Amino acid sequence: MEEQTALINQTKIDSVPKPSPWGKPPQQSTPIPSCLQDVMNEQLSEDFIEKEQKNVLDTFESEKKEVDVDALIAAAGADETADDELMARMLQLEYDKQNDEELLAKEKLVNKHQKVSISFENYRSVHPAYRDDEDKEEEDDDDYEPPKSEWDKKSPSFKKNGTVGSGKNVVTKHDKVICGRKNASKLMDFPPEFHSGDGESMDMQLNNRIYNKLKRHSDAENKRHQRLHEKKEHSTAGQVMDARTRLILYKLVNNGVLDSISGSISTGKESVVFHAYGGELNGETLPKECAIKVYKTTLNEFKNRGKYVDGDHRFSRDDFKKQNPRKIIRIWGEKETANLNRMKKFGVPCPHVQVLKKHVLVMSFIGKDMQPAPKLKTVKLSTADMQDAFEQTMKIMKTIHRDCKLVHADLSEFNILWYQDKIWIIDVSQAVEITHPAALEFLFRDCKSMTSFFQSRDVHGVPTPEELFNDITGLEIQGEGLEFVAQVQRFQKEKNEECLVHQTTYTKEYAFDYFFEKSQKERADALDKLGISDGEDEDEALEEEPEDIE
Ligand code: ADP
Ligand code: MG
Repeated sequence: MEEQTALINQTKIDSVPKPSPWGKPPQQSTPIPSCLQDVMNEQLSEDFIEKEQKNVLDTFESEKKEVDVDALIAAAGADETADDELMARMLQLEYDKQNDEELLAKEKLVNKHQKVSISFENYRSVHPAYRDDEDKEEEDDDDYEPPKSEWDKKSPSFKKNGTVGSGKNVVTKHDKVICGRKNASKLMDFPPEFHSGDGESMDMQLNNRIYNKLKRHSDAENKRHQRLHEKKEHSTAGQVMDARTRLILYKLVNNGVLDSISGSISTGKESVVFHAYGGELNGETLPKECAIKVYKTTLNEFKNRGKYVDGDHRFSRDDFKKQNPRKIIRIWGEKETANLNRMKKFGVPCPHVQVLKKHVLVMSFIGKDMQPAPKLKTVKLSTADMQDAFEQTMKIMKTIHRDCKLVHADLSEFNILWYQDKIWIIDVSQAVEITHPAALEFLFRDCKSMTSFFQSRDVHGVPTPEELFNDITGLEIQGEGLEFVAQVQRFQKEKNEECLVHQTTYTKEYAFDYFFEKSQKERADALDKLGISDGEDEDEALEEEPEDIE
């Protein structure tokens, strides 16, 4: 120990500069010569530190954004851990897809003028099972045809009588070997969960009895799997926050289109509405407050849609089955967007559409400080204000019909908001063109609901629904009540027949209106069964109470 201290002291003494025989040494220390390698190493380490600091800052920035999305997930009451993992997976998939797209572009470039092409297949990141997912899959879904099995490709073509060959070599389609091969081949088309092994390369044959047993087992397993999956889907779909929706909302926040999403304003049968703070899109600032309408994509809804097309030659069940449910749900958003835009164009006070992403519609918020404007149904208005609301509504109904050439088709005190002394029309996804085959009936229903509402609020000068209908349309249909409805229907029928003559029949573009019309009829039938009369009670019975903002 003593030895060590002595050594240190000695070193200290050594490092003290000795007096120079030529005078005082210069004050500033002369640079210590160092080799180039050392200098480079030092610069390198500085670079590293800088990069490290930048990384930390970036992570911090991205975490800051994620906070908002976390709030959103919390608002949806989802299980956070599972969601984070899911989100991470989906984002990773997005990144991988982007990477693959770039790779494909490079591959094309490299092979452009070459006789021998090089494949970058091995460098792709997305697993083949996920490659045609998402949008591409959606585009192709309409023309989906199951892939042909190996046997189909190799099968001999039988004559009409089910035989092939002639004389001794005649083979029927019930031939044991052919059937056996066919069964073995069909086994390969069982769902991937069924471990069938790879039998295509060998001459595998399965007799009918064994094949049927395997098929039954596979079907039962498949059903069980689907039930489990459906249960899981429903648990999130009930809150419309399925993985796809979350990803869309996540992207809207992450891209800065929205600043943050606050919570849900209303949960209805077909949609959920959220409040959000607007951000920026293409250099344009969105309104400070926005409403996000998310159309529900529950499995149940799609299953039920089948019955809307039963028994109608224009929409055979097979045709309907082929439709991609995700595409159908998008139509609601597209329709609402188109209708809102048209109404805005003619000066009808309604939300201003900001962005439509698949089944998520962002529009301006009618209300302030996260409080949506009250519905006409609930707002407490003075007599004068109610009179004003009535006059505004009558005017707007005429504008919607005459200028926008639309019929709201669900106009009631529930879909009219009162904000800044004005009437605001919302919920127009079901609104139809006046050329729609049931437009007049819808219009008469709207007239009925509005006149009965204003009458119940003791407004002066409320016309009868028949008067209002004639006033709006400029028609002079006689009668009242059921007689009037019958007249309207007769008139509508004549008009439709005229359209048929002129080849403007119900085309696919009316598919949405058709479903809506059917669903309305069903709704009326259901109410009849419940013994609820048409009118105020009906809406009350069907309208779900909005949830308070969290
Ligand atoms: P649904 O088809 O579920 O009835 P709506 O479009 O009527 O959907 O919206 C449901 C509720 O959400 C409305 O009653 C209203 O309270 C609220 N809401 C919808 N859009 C807006 C908006 N742009 N601004 C403020 N509140 C809105
Ligand atoms: Mg509504």
